[in-house]
Amino acid sequence: MEFDQSGVKALMEITSRPDLVFVHGQGSWLEDHNGKRYLDFLQGWAVNCLGHCPPSVVAALTKQASTLINPSPAFYNQPSIDLAKRITGASCFDRVFFANSGAEANEGAIKLARKWGKLHRNGAYKIITFNHGFHGRTLATMSASGKPGWDTMFAPQVDGFPKAELNDIESVRKLIDDKTVAVMLEPVQGEAGVIPATVEFMQALRALTQELGLLMIVDEVQTGIGRTGKLFAYQHAGIEPDIMTLAKGIGSGVPLAALCAREAVACFEYGDQGGTYNGNPLMAAAGIAVFDEVSAPDFMAAVNARAQQLSEGLLALSAKWGMDGERGTGLLRALKLGKPDGAAIVAAARDRGPEGLLLNAPRPELLRFMPALNVTAEEIDLMLRWLDEIVGQVRA
Ligand SMILES: *Cc1c(COP(=O)(O)O)cnc(C)c1O
Repeated sequence: MEFDQSGVKALMEITSRPDLVFVHGQGSWLEDHNGKRYLDFLQGWAVNCLGHCPPSVVAALTKQASTLINPSPAFYNQPSIDLAKRITGASCFDRVFFANSGAEANEGAIKLARKWGKLHRNGAYKIITFNHGFHGRTLATMSASGKPGWDTMFAPQVDGFPKAELNDIESVRKLIDDKTVAVMLEPVQGEAGVIPATVEFMQALRALTQELGLLMIVDEVQTGIGRTGKLFAYQHAGIEPDIMTLAKGIGSGVPLAALCAREAVACFEYGDQGGTYNGNPLMAAAGIAVFDEVSAPDFMAAVNARAQQLSEGLLALSAKWGMDGERGTGLLRALKLGKPDGAAIVAAARDRGPEGLLLNAPRPELLRFMPALNVTAEEIDLMLRWLDEIVGQVRA
């Protein structure tokens, strides 16, 4: 069956897409317009943490949609209050501002740090970020990102984001001056190819920023809400940052994000921050359903068991095919292919018959795995079996 492509040219082309449309999703499986099924290890780029159409989220959305969708951000609504209470109760943060995307939450974090710098550090505004980091696609978050080429793509950049090297505390120390207000990083650099900040580095960064009276901001847009085997990735290091952003997993597929701050840092005044859809009860209701499932007893133990299974399976594949091993934290992992055939493997996996496999190659020599957090042991075994078969074909 062909899908109706007559409207495709009405869309702005922003990436190359295969000639198919997905029409249905359940758990770890997607189905296209031909009825072909795909085992999905992308999950909307680490977004659908409970898989496709999770019953708890569907039920929460359905109930909220027929109750109250949008009273206005200038009024309280119960779901946003309840979700903020859950997040602050489970973290070191005291205040939450809900947003609609990771980039928007990060913009809020940047504004909050600059405001704090104005109030407490004599107008300091620079935020040290990291080479290869990714913080979003607005002008400020592109400027904060360390992706090669992004500094000139939409020049001029937003000023004030000097870049250090991940896991090199001296490279951070060297950049600090009297205009520095904060350091911002991903606990695991996701788009860069799943590069974890070490526990020692996270601790050294916290000690250094505390010593100098600077803020530490963690961008947990990809790592938060259980992705790394703890509710928040900063918890692996036993530290307490000042500001955290969440998106992706927090809504398990619906546009929801959060800017979280400790009381002493939550210095927005009336008029500083806002937005039409921010904290709307429909998305907050989905966020509550996700949060309650991910924080239920035994959920994180299962995430860690699946992570270990995936890690061991990828290591076995690496040994069999002479690759360079694997890395990652929790269910955010990467296989180092040792050769730049990532794109060929991704295409062969997708086109595999009768059932396909959806994978991502953030770099030519790397595959990234970001399954649903409730992926089953059987689904991981199946993925590993298919991947073995596909690598065999591609490298034949
Ligand atoms: C995806 C991502 C973002 C951007 O989130 P959007 O919702 O796409 O705006 C920011 N930071 C990190 C670490 C991400 O992975």
